[in-house]
Amino acid sequence: MSKAIVSSLYDSEVFRMACRQFDKAADAISLPDTLRDRTKYPRRCLAVSLPIRRQDGSVTVFEGYRVQHNLSTGPSKGGIRFHQSVTLGEVAALSMWMSWKTSLVGLPYGGAKGGVIVDPHTLSETELEHLSRRYMQEMVNFLGPHVDVPAPDVGTNEKIMGWMMDTYSNHVGHLEPAIVTGKPIALGGSQGRREATGEGVAYLVKQYLRDLKVPIGRATVAIQGFGNVGSETARALARYGAKIIAISDHTGAFHHPKGINIEKALTYVRSQKVLRDFDGGEPITNAELLELKCTVLIPAALERVITEKNAAQLKCRMLAEAANGPTTNAADKIIDERGDIEVIPDVLCNSGGVIVSYFEWLQNLSNFYWDREEVMTKLFAMLDKAKLSVDAQKKKFQFSRRLAALTLGIQRVADAKQSRGLFP
Ligand code: GLU
Repeated sequence: MSKAIVSSLYDSEVFRMACRQFDKAADAISLPDTLRDRTKYPRRCLAVSLPIRRQDGSVTVFEGYRVQHNLSTGPSKGGIRFHQSVTLGEVAALSMWMSWKTSLVGLPYGGAKGGVIVDPHTLSETELEHLSRRYMQEMVNFLGPHVDVPAPDVGTNEKIMGWMMDTYSNHVGHLEPAIVTGKPIALGGSQGRREATGEGVAYLVKQYLRDLKVPIGRATVAIQGFGNVGSETARALARYGAKIIAISDHTGAFHHPKGINIEKALTYVRSQKVLRDFDGGEPITNAELLELKCTVLIPAALERVITEKNAAQLKCRMLAEAANGPTTNAADKIIDERGDIEVIPDVLCNSGGVIVSYFEWLQNLSNFYWDREEVMTKLFAMLDKAKLSVDAQKKKFQFSRRLAALTLGIQRVADAKQSRGLFP
């Protein structure tokens, strides 16, 4: 019998949610007690203070984290989030999901996540650069191309990854592109990495619609979140012929039954930064967007937006989780019981991002670069393989698709831990 003796360090609603998902999956595969807690809890974390000199001469201290959940299956991997609502518990939950995701799709990685409590839109470009560099400086001894490899997440982008790579390289005294992924192409970034998560989501939606025998030209799509992932998903699905009937960001949601012109929305956001006052659709509320009648609903922003309050009201045929952890445990249960919604769970649905991050890391380590077509072909092949294994597991054990994906991810991590044994 094993028993975890753990503190409340990570305790939060979202961490408990990730733990409940784990417990359910561990029960479903009868994971032995001796392996459970080792596989479940994050291995280690670092919390740092990040003092930044502001443009007006004052100094602000921000708080940052990195949680490394699992390093048993390779270097830990996962993005860094800049958002005002970041908490250590949230970063820990996100690090768990990274572990199951990399494991599910068969990448030689563990899982990690980082975060800084900051609204990046309130910083000037120089302040953002200082904060990004300071974060990497504080993390230098905790990261490495064979230890833990960050990437972008909510609120971070290529430029920030470039500054972080430069800071790390200056510290070690030579160019080390493999320290982060999601870099600008000029600094060793991969072709296709920026679009990878959205392209992957759109590809899986297309494949699952095909399974349901719904022609993509007749599919309507509502997308919550218009950051990198939401907008690239919209663009790719529109290219496949789907009609994007609603989009939103934190400043507003817009509905157009005949289809929103996605290129127009992208141009608008490029100049205005946000969707506020976009005239390409009727303004609706975020809650209304989630409950729109559509073929595919795609949450592509933060966690816990599909809850017990709206799960029974969803009017979609498919729920494609481009965000990490968008569906609470209670909502998941309601959706399972309804039985009329195909769920593409987050760890499968948004895995395109980390898959192309892996390609970027390989290219950096081998100093040999691929063209976009090669990246996309390999990405879609890996997604097809992961989809097949999830659907086989679902069928074999009569699991929900989420349980199928999580059990596969968790089993592989547990197997690696079992085989490596416990250090005396
Ligand atoms: N932040 C992304 C995710 O949640 C990408 C992580 C990565 O590329 O390492 O999957």
